[in-house]
Amino acid sequence: MAKAVFLDRDGVINRAIVREGKPYPPATVEETEILPDVAEALKRLKAHGYLLIVVTNQPDVARGTTSRETVEAINAYLSASLPIDEFRTCYHDSGDGCDCRKPRPGSLLAAAALHDIDMSRSFMVGDRWRDVEAGQNAGCKTIFIDYGYCEKQPEAADCRVSSLGKAANYILEEVQ
Ligand SMILES: [Mg+2]
Ligand SMILES: [Zn+2]
Repeated sequence: MAKAVFLDRDGVINRAIVREGKPYPPATVEETEILPDVAEALKRLKAHGYLLIVVTNQPDVARGTTSRETVEAINAYLSASLPIDEFRTCYHDSGDGCDCRKPRPGSLLAAAALHDIDMSRSFMVGDRWRDVEAGQNAGCKTIFIDYGYCEKQPEAADCRVSSLGKAANYILEEVQ
């Protein structure tokens, strides 16, 4: 079976735009900045056989404050710059009742079914409680990148770090 690292997008791969203590996605490709240790971290994880699957909530599309095309353009830019295998984007908001909006595990489970992923050997990395809970709901180990946002905090993440590079260190130490 395959193994994967599921990655949140904003705040994990690219810098989140923080306003009043809360993170937001960049509004344009030009505003999208890949975080410093991300390329190297993804390369190391890939070299150790992990599928790299980005799972992102983009509710601003349902809220009408950004377009699906803008979100897809940012995904395409990240995809062209980094060794990411797949993007799974939820365009819904909480009231829509979809199964792909984190903390629901629908996107992770769909990817697992497609690629025959062993969730007990896989990880979810994120910077918000929804990411950690989605990973827990899917049966993955979870890593929280803590920026000290002023919002609900995740409970019982397996590891708390300051960057994706540190998360990769944890993953690669954990499995040896
Ligand atoms: Mg995020
Ligand atoms: Zn959804």
